[in-house]
Amino acid sequence: MWPTIAIVAIGIAAVLGGLWWRSRRGRLESEARAGRRIRELEDEIGSLKDNTGRRLHRHQVFLESMSDGVMLVDAEGRIELVNAAFTRMFALPPEVIGRQAEDTLRLPEFIRLLRRAHEGGGVLDAEIELPGVDHRLVQVSVTAMRETKGRTSGLVVLVHDLTRLKQLENTRRDFVANVSHELRTPLSLIKGFVETLLLGGPHDAETVERFLKTIQKHADRLAFLIEDLLTISKLESGALAMHLEPLPLRPLVDHVLEDLQGRQRSRTVRLENGIAAGLEVRGDADRLQQVFSNLIDNAIKYGRKDGRVEIGARRINGKWIEVWIRDDGPGIPPEALNRIYERFYRVDKARSREQGGTGLGLAIVKHIVQSHGGEVCTESEIGRGTVFRLTLPAAPIPTGDPASAIPTKPASPPEPPVN
Ligand code: ADP
Repeated sequence: MWPTIAIVAIGIAAVLGGLWWRSRRGRLESEARAGRRIRELEDEIGSLKDNTGRRLHRHQVFLESMSDGVMLVDAEGRIELVNAAFTRMFALPPEVIGRQAEDTLRLPEFIRLLRRAHEGGGVLDAEIELPGVDHRLVQVSVTAMRETKGRTSGLVVLVHDLTRLKQLENTRRDFVANVSHELRTPLSLIKGFVETLLLGGPHDAETVERFLKTIQKHADRLAFLIEDLLTISKLESGALAMHLEPLPLRPLVDHVLEDLQGRQRSRTVRLENGIAAGLEVRGDADRLQQVFSNLIDNAIKYGRKDGRVEIGARRINGKWIEVWIRDDGPGIPPEALNRIYERFYRVDKARSREQGGTGLGLAIVKHIVQSHGGEVCTESEIGRGTVFRLTLPAAPIPTGDPASAIPTKPASPPEPPVN
């Protein structure tokens, strides 16, 4: 009897033990599974956090690198976000986040725009002039964010600086007005003289010839003007390709002097090419001839009647050559020195026109010299004369691609040459 009971008890114990073991193993396995899942979820959360962090960082970099200003305003009118451009444009103090946009901006026009967008929704635009001495003009665009119930949940403000665009627009308008004026003057003179001749005005040969010569002079002026305008337009559009090559300076200037010597006025002026033989620049022969022709012609036109024009040059370092054109004329007033390179600017309008000037010569000179990587500047003393100095790249270029290299600009302005 007892052995049977013992066997049954052992059997029951074995079954119970087996069951306990299986359930324990199952529990251990499901615990391990749950642990794995938790780790997987932790990894996912971690990478989600990383991604969100990276994305937020990218958005921040994007906002901060924008040249347009951006501001976000919440439903209560508090600033939620501003980027660096916005802060700069409106000269905002630091720590504006959370402050009322209206109190912070203090520009009545801007505040009215924010209010209108908040109340009416949609997108509103306005051009606003910012306070300050530099009269910056900005285009402000306000977009209201609407919730489903129609309530405004915030405003997105985008600000684009229009100052440069407006300046370009004004320059273009002035240029067109100037060109029209410059063309109209000789044209109406030509028209007047032709009409007088056609109506049988003067009959004596001498007066008729004088009339015809005047017509010819103004027609020439028109032709010069159109030629200079075309040059300017080609230079500005980049359509005029530069053919850079080593150019000996002295013969280049001699060539220009020969051309100019034929002209009436230059016969009484002493023209001296003091450039040492052997100095070579790297430049475009035609364009540089145009530069020297304009500057030497100006020195003759605006210099002293029986004066002296001297052209000189020197190497200022291994890479640059300075060339100067000096006259002993009446000089240029200090207030005009910065303006003579502007298109159509003349110190003495009547004198320039009388000399057949177009008012574009120095603008062309500056453009060409800068296209060579150089600079041009003017020094003048009233009653003593004027010096135009320009820097040009020296040839040969010691390093780099010889076909296209233009050396970097000289670090400091060159010392004035000794007389
Ligand atoms: P323009 O066709 O009138 O000569 P430029 O652009 O060549 O036009 O020159 C602009 C103005 O600069 C001239 O009208 C003149 O008043 C002044 N100018 C240029 N060179 C000289 C100079 N060497 N001496 C005095 N004034 C000069």
